[in-house]
Amino acid sequence: MLRAELESGMIVELVQDCTCGLHQGPHWLHMNEIDRNLNQRLLSNGGRHATYAFAQAEVERLKQLEVEMQRRQIIRVIRSDEAPASRRAEGGGE
Ligand SMILES: [Zn+2]
Repeated sequence: MLRAELESGMIVELVQDCTCGLHQGPHWLHMNEIDRNLNQRLLSNGGRHATYAFAQAEVERLKQLEVEMQRRQIIRVIRSDEAPASRRAEGGGE
C-alpha cells in the first residue's frame, strides 16, 4: 500500500487514479518510477559522461516529482514497509 504524508501532517492513502492496471498507487508516481528506472540505465554505459547524463536526467525527474507532490500538498510518500515518518523524525540523534 502507498500512503503519503501531507503538509497538514495527515496521512492519506495514495490510490490508483487510472485504468492502466499495471501498478499500485497514482499514475504520476508510477510514471516517475519508470523515469527513475530509465535514468538508472544511463549509468550502465559507464564513465564520466554516463554519470553526467544520469545526474541531468535525475534533476529533471526530481523537479517533476516535486511539482506533482506540491500540487497535492504531499511532503513524503510512504511505502507499506516503512514506519510513519513523524516517529522517526522525533527519534532523531540516535
Ligand atoms: Zn496508471
